[in-house]
Amino acid sequence: MILRFQPFLYALKHPFRLATGMRTHTTAMLVEVSAEGLTGYGEAAMPPYYGENHDTAAAYLTLAQSVLKRYPSPEPLENILSALDALAPGNNAAKAAVDLALHDLWGKMKGKPLYELLETPVAKMPLSSFTLGIDTPEILQEKLKEAEDFRVIKVKLGSADDRLIINTIRALSDKPIYADANQGWTQREEALELCYWLQEQGVQLIEQPFPKDQLGDAAWLSARSPLPVFADESFQRLSDLERVSSAYHGVNVKLMKCTGLHEGLKCVREALKLKLKLMVGCMTESPCGIRAAALLAPHCDFADLDGCWLIQNSPWEMPLLEEGKIVLGDGAGLGLR
Ligand code: MG
Repeated sequence: MILRFQPFLYALKHPFRLATGMRTHTTAMLVEVSAEGLTGYGEAAMPPYYGENHDTAAAYLTLAQSVLKRYPSPEPLENILSALDALAPGNNAAKAAVDLALHDLWGKMKGKPLYELLETPVAKMPLSSFTLGIDTPEILQEKLKEAEDFRVIKVKLGSADDRLIINTIRALSDKPIYADANQGWTQREEALELCYWLQEQGVQLIEQPFPKDQLGDAAWLSARSPLPVFADESFQRLSDLERVSSAYHGVNVKLMKCTGLHEGLKCVREALKLKLKLMVGCMTESPCGIRAAALLAPHCDFADLDGCWLIQNSPWEMPLLEEGKIVLGDGAGLGLR
């Protein structure tokens, strides 16, 4: 198989502000894997806080090129992916890019959509939320209009304005809210008080309240919070699952953290065994990553798959949204157009 890659920048429709910083672009790498006249597509979306960038991805993908050359097709997928994972530590998003391209190519070779090959329970697709970054009331109002087709709102908290932000949104919309503090809270007691208040405001869950390594604080809050507490930054890939399972009610699985669909599906299966709740999330990424993540969504309680609606230069056609749920395309592989 031949692997090609191209650096890309996703331009965001609005500057995206989190407790950890603000940005206008997301660094990405577009990946193609070809064999027998067919091409599978993948991508790495690399927000700055995970340490990957165009240089690290190019270095990893150059190594991956030589591995893929040895295989004529994406099968056996398990063996190829473990060889790729062993090439270098980290590089989770770059690894995900290759995993997605291999899955897409595999589906195209079989002439079937991936949801059929992976036996995805499509009827169980959850609603997807639309994320609002930290912003002024005027801009939040504008963004809420853009979120009209979504039936759930995800709100970034973790600043001194948490109550103001929720009050602003509640004055404009009564949709259910998922709240994400992005490691922005510091005090246990304050966090607990806020969780009770958030519940009264129709918030359904709280994601990553404290800095990612403060599992003791997360466990303390999880034992008391009226809202389910989810790990995002605390949980990257399968090997983290056991460690976080005693501190959180659930985990947010993202393809760009867990090296792709193959390991993502393993995370889902293992999390269910550990009785964890599941959310599937995304970075700001194109419909390529979002369609792939949507294959995990029917196994999860919650989905936050709005990434491609937040960028303005998507190389692919947007997925359909029906009654607030992503529709998996009927084309072979990921069904990209
Ligand atoms: Mg998050």
